[in-house]
Amino acid sequence: MNEKLREIIASHKNIVFFGGAGVSTASGIPDFRSANGIYSQGGVIPPEEILSHTFFMERTAEFYKFYREKMLYPSAKPNDCHFALARLESLGRLKAVVTQNIDDLHQKAGSRTVYELHGSVCRNRCMRCGKKYGLDYILQTEGVPRCEKCGGIIKPDVVLYEESLDPDCIRDSCRAIAEAEVLIIGGTSLTVYPAASFINYFSGEKLVLINKTPTQADRIADLVLHEGIAEAMRLEDGEIS
Ligand code: ZN
Repeated sequence: MNEKLREIIASHKNIVFFGGAGVSTASGIPDFRSANGIYSQGGVIPPEEILSHTFFMERTAEFYKFYREKMLYPSAKPNDCHFALARLESLGRLKAVVTQNIDDLHQKAGSRTVYELHGSVCRNRCMRCGKKYGLDYILQTEGVPRCEKCGGIIKPDVVLYEESLDPDCIRDSCRAIAEAEVLIIGGTSLTVYPAASFINYFSGEKLVLINKTPTQADRIADLVLHEGIAEAMRLEDGEIS
């Protein structure tokens, strides 16, 4: 781990990590914003439109075609950033992970307190009766997945465009950030809502920014690392106790 980052972590016990797409791209999951859209009669439909509530309701089969091809990476593995955060939590230093990612990799690495602002591909629900389904059901079915019990359409518990974030998740995330001594923001350019606004809740001692390219918050950070999140966060055995 970067020496200055290690010093900050080793001298604090209330750390919160806020992560963006870069945390997942380090595990080989592409940022969906860079994906090609799907072709239709009117031309190419951009991902932002396909991943909207309106599109899901009106063109569910096309939504699921894109979703299964571009949004689901069941064989992706956690990287050194995910594992370091899980370790820091078990050591009692990290209080929470707040993430914009929906891939469940923090939980796979062993993290327990994870606030998923944009939901998770692992949770799916029948829109008619509310029966819950895991990711396996979406992977095993074809076309529009239907409820075994009532035949209703199953919808991923992923926040689509036009939908609002879960208020409980926002409250818990903001509280964790507001109470933190150290906030580490990683793998985000801080241009997408709500990342840019969440930083305003932080009033702790050390703000750390880790991103390959500069962000607008670099000037207010105590430590800025322009490198990959997995390399920057890699924690060797015994490095922090
Ligand atoms: Zn149902």
